[in-house]
Amino acid sequence: MVSVFVFCEFQHGQLKKGALELLGAAKQSGRPVVSVVLGPEAPSVALQTFHYGAQKALVCDSKDLVLYNSEIYADLLSLIISEHRPELVLASSSLLARDLFPRVAARTDSAYTSDCTELNLKEGGLHVRRALYSGKCSASVNFKNCATKLVLMKQNQLPILAPDITRTGEVVTVKVPSSDLKTLVKEVVMGTSKKLDLTEANIIVSGGRGLREPGNFSLLEALADTLGASVGASRAVVDAGWVPHGMQVGQTGKTVNPSLYIAVGISGAIQHMAGIMGSKVIVAINKDPEAPIFQKATFGIVGDLFEVVPQLTAEFKRTLS
Ligand SMILES: Cc1cc2nc3c(=O)[nH]c(=O)nc-3n(C[C@H](O)[C@H](O)[C@H](O)COP(=O)(O)OP(=O)(O)OC[C@H]3O[C@@H](n4cnc5c(N)ncnc54)[C@H](O)[C@@H]3O)c2cc1C
Repeated sequence: MVSVFVFCEFQHGQLKKGALELLGAAKQSGRPVVSVVLGPEAPSVALQTFHYGAQKALVCDSKDLVLYNSEIYADLLSLIISEHRPELVLASSSLLARDLFPRVAARTDSAYTSDCTELNLKEGGLHVRRALYSGKCSASVNFKNCATKLVLMKQNQLPILAPDITRTGEVVTVKVPSSDLKTLVKEVVMGTSKKLDLTEANIIVSGGRGLREPGNFSLLEALADTLGASVGASRAVVDAGWVPHGMQVGQTGKTVNPSLYIAVGISGAIQHMAGIMGSKVIVAINKDPEAPIFQKATFGIVGDLFEVVPQLTAEFKRTLS
């Protein structure tokens, strides 16, 4: 039977949520599942992939993979795909994967689609739907004349199956092919935030101009810490220099797809909404009942954020403790 390959990203020795979702979807398809785990700690992470559905893991923990270099990763993944010619490779639509997979698609003559929101592998088929025009509409994707399909799924779209820690599998080590590198990554400078990147967060609390001044973001930090959320922002406050650009959500910022998005003091301009329409639930807190964001929000709280947010934080603290 044709196997499904799952490219598994991980951090601090733990599989990322997107990888867990995809392993579950691959397992449920009934086809053999092969995980591809590249980077330091790959052998131990490979064992986790068995718990979530993989039967076999292709691993490489070469020191060349410590810092992401698109040339090295593309060489290695292209080699794996050319050797095994899997019919389908699944990966999370992360920043890394969206940089890596188009290169691999070009080198291996594979079909490629990203930002998918629906995946159906039932009865040996492959049905994929992807968001278009910042989530305003979606398209069903058909693949033609290609041996391998590379499908990048948005995170938070699929359930995570319960792990079976008794499961094991076969580990196969792969080697980085030698090549003349044109680029060398010497250092990666991480942001100061310890919170999950917005593109991976399950809960996001975002703030806008309604916060009046940068110091008031501490209100959102307190709510976010209580909920285990990440903090985002509208472009208005990023442009004003209140918070870094990495926190910007929207058309010219990050596209997010959390289970819960709480917009605080954000009007809901079309460019902001373009980045959040993948959210399962949107809660808007705004003192203006006519604010456009209420037209799209699942729940709206009309009120002064300086009263509402501390109350919410206190209530969540009480109920979650
Ligand atoms: C090409 C282009 C790209 C853009 N890309 C992006 C993007 O990626 N992301 C993005 O966000 N924007 C983007 N914008 C900007 C966008 O059009 C808006 O200007 C911006 O989103 C507004 O930010 P805001 O909602 O924080 O501010 P405002 O529109 O000023 O809204 C502030 C809101 O806070 C409310 N408020 C005020 N005080 C309180 C209070 N005490 N309690 C509760 N509510 C209060 C007000 O009622 C108001 O609704 C882009 C614009 C262009 C032209």
